[in-house]
Amino acid sequence: MRQPKTPDTFLTMHSETNIAILGSTGSIGQNTLSVVNELDGYNIFGITGHSRTELLLKQARDYKPRFAVFSDTNVSDEVDTSQIPNTDFWYGHESISELAGHESTDIVVAAIMGRAGLESTWHAIEKGKRIALANKETLVVAGQQIKQLASDSGAELLPVDSEHSAIYQCLQSGKSQEVTQIVLTASGGPFRQMTFEQMKCVTVEQALAHPTWNMGQKITIDSATMMNKALEIIEARWLFDVPSEKISVMIHPQSIIHSMVEFCDGSVISQMSPPDMKLPIQYALTYPDRLDGPSPKLDLTQSYDLQLIPPDLEQFPALDLGFEVARKGGTTGAVLNAANEAAVDAFLNRQISFTDIVAACREILDNHHFEPNPTLTTLMNQDRWAREEINKWIAC
Ligand code: NAD
Ligand code: MG
Repeated sequence: MRQPKTPDTFLTMHSETNIAILGSTGSIGQNTLSVVNELDGYNIFGITGHSRTELLLKQARDYKPRFAVFSDTNVSDEVDTSQIPNTDFWYGHESISELAGHESTDIVVAAIMGRAGLESTWHAIEKGKRIALANKETLVVAGQQIKQLASDSGAELLPVDSEHSAIYQCLQSGKSQEVTQIVLTASGGPFRQMTFEQMKCVTVEQALAHPTWNMGQKITIDSATMMNKALEIIEARWLFDVPSEKISVMIHPQSIIHSMVEFCDGSVISQMSPPDMKLPIQYALTYPDRLDGPSPKLDLTQSYDLQLIPPDLEQFPALDLGFEVARKGGTTGAVLNAANEAAVDAFLNRQISFTDIVAACREILDNHHFEPNPTLTTLMNQDRWAREEINKWIAC
């Protein structure tokens, strides 16, 4: 670990790039800490956490950031920060946004899970920061508004999602008008070889056992239903400004080819590396440079059996939802995202079955009041409405 610093050095020594990790106690957050710890010239300036208070305190002790934020104001009386003198502790969601927009923050790693990450990411974009964007839900809910905001403020959106990082890298092989197709790869999750009927009985424990990636609970369930790929279709639509017709999905169980871009001359460019989030995180931090870092490398002396298989849309109906929302835009992303977040929670709490997650999302999306050009307030109202609809679904 690099040498600790005193509070003043963080603000004055601004030759280092200051990183604020929103959601540092999560899977992406912890991977980001490992990456930054290994890179010269990068400094952990701020960290935030929601429920794992002991872990956030440990991270503050280990990495000595200038600021640490507990999003829950109720914990302020419970936590003992007296032994961590170099870090200022803040409380509440507004403090996350304050850290994200702080004048000394250079890069914001948006790694809060779900719609809860939208407000702070929005604020960082308003302030024109570089955003290393893991929180795909922000683009799913308000992709059009976020892109407009970034274009107005000059903020940079660098993808952390491995597929989108791969696409970002592949796109550098040609011009945007030469792109004919963006192919998102998907591991297929733990139920790739099950029929839809068989999936009706899967348990929470089975759904949480992802074959290739180690991630937070919500995205692990999303990967099992393939809703994660649906959200990624929508994310790609906004991030790369491509119409849904130019986006496709292929199952790639080995998770080594992270995605592909086809150009008009027939060339297909892919990005490959072992399934480990440290590489896309690092690339978002160091872009346009590539640095030697802590990510594992492929062993190019061994043989690999890499498969690419078209997905079965009846087996995974979530994919249709992704294409539909990417095509329609408007309020559909906010409704799909909220319904899915609430349905995943209900599944984890054993209130609905695994296949109910996507079925409920389909019904709620079909029944919502569509608006093609919503304001942020309308999106938030639709988000609330969709969550209430899931509660009604559970009660039925
Ligand atoms: P996680 O559940 O492991 O961590 C989530 C983080 O968000 C934690 O620090 C938690 O404290 C914080 N958080 C949760 N609810 C919050 C709230 N209401 N307010 C403030 N903070 C809150 O999740 P993760 O797997 O690290 O995923 C984070 C984001 O990155 C998600 O949007 C996910 O889709 C995306 N992502 C994750 C991976 C991965 O490999 N884990 C890959 C690609 C994209
Ligand atoms: Mg992904």
